[in-house]
Amino acid sequence: MMRRIASAFLLLGATAALALHGPAPILAQGAAPGFAASLGDVRSLAARIPGRRPVRINVLKFAESRRTKNFSVKGAAAEPSVQARTAFQLVFQDGTVMVDAGMDRQVHAFFGRGVEEPYDAAAAAQLERALKAARLILVTHEHGDHVAGVIHTPLATELAPKTMLTRAQAQTLRTAPQMPEIRLSEQDASRYVIVDYDRYLPVAPGIVLLEAPGHTPGSQMVYVALESGREYLLIGDAAWHMDGVRSMAGKDVPWLIEDTGAVMAQLTWLNGLARREPDLVIVASHDEDERLALIRKGALGDRFE
Ligand SMILES: [Zn+2]
Repeated sequence: MMRRIASAFLLLGATAALALHGPAPILAQGAAPGFAASLGDVRSLAARIPGRRPVRINVLKFAESRRTKNFSVKGAAAEPSVQARTAFQLVFQDGTVMVDAGMDRQVHAFFGRGVEEPYDAAAAAQLERALKAARLILVTHEHGDHVAGVIHTPLATELAPKTMLTRAQAQTLRTAPQMPEIRLSEQDASRYVIVDYDRYLPVAPGIVLLEAPGHTPGSQMVYVALESGREYLLIGDAAWHMDGVRSMAGKDVPWLIEDTGAVMAQLTWLNGLARREPDLVIVASHDEDERLALIRKGALGDRFE
């Protein structure tokens, strides 16, 4: 049932299939788990698959949660804060790749925890059209707000063959899904492109996945280098707000189960990366302040095409 990684490359018409295994990180006995991805390695992997890189990235907000800031960033003031529910579209000259797939209204209701929160049906329809048109769909992690759009949808059969899930993501969706709507049976799972990789996986020209378990077992980051040379790192939910990276503070949510040690190591790494690579655009999925600022700067487009 495990399809070969090569099928992902075929989706994009690339010719090379690469097996990549970086050296395992060496930890001193008793040391806290580290996160030691190398941007240099990622950059060179981004050049391994020949072809034109994406020309721009669009973001779409289709829903919101309203939570005070201290939930997203431990120690922050309990002031009102918007958590944007988003998906990203990487635009090549001849097609698109999606990062995250959104969710329907029913799964959205789960996140309100009894409170009705904004859901933009027109944006959700735009997202659904973008998923149908995409050549490849990636998900940063296996939570409902990122993955339900390829599972709990009448389009699941159509979208599954071009949706790449990692083995860890598929495993969570089969055995411990965040909500019943996104549970995958063994048979359902076999319809998706399931990949397994060690540390990094280039999936298209300019696009590399970075394994980053922590927020969930199947969490990963997505590095994107555009034709223009501009670089992005989509970090999913490693932080819910970039203040979490800036102050190296995790979330403070009693009902959230995550590997806090692994997440802290990622926040520490991201904090250093942000200082060493000021031109790298680090994007947190739910940070509404950052979304608006990046759209204003022209670093992200504000609609799908
Ligand atoms: Zn999320």
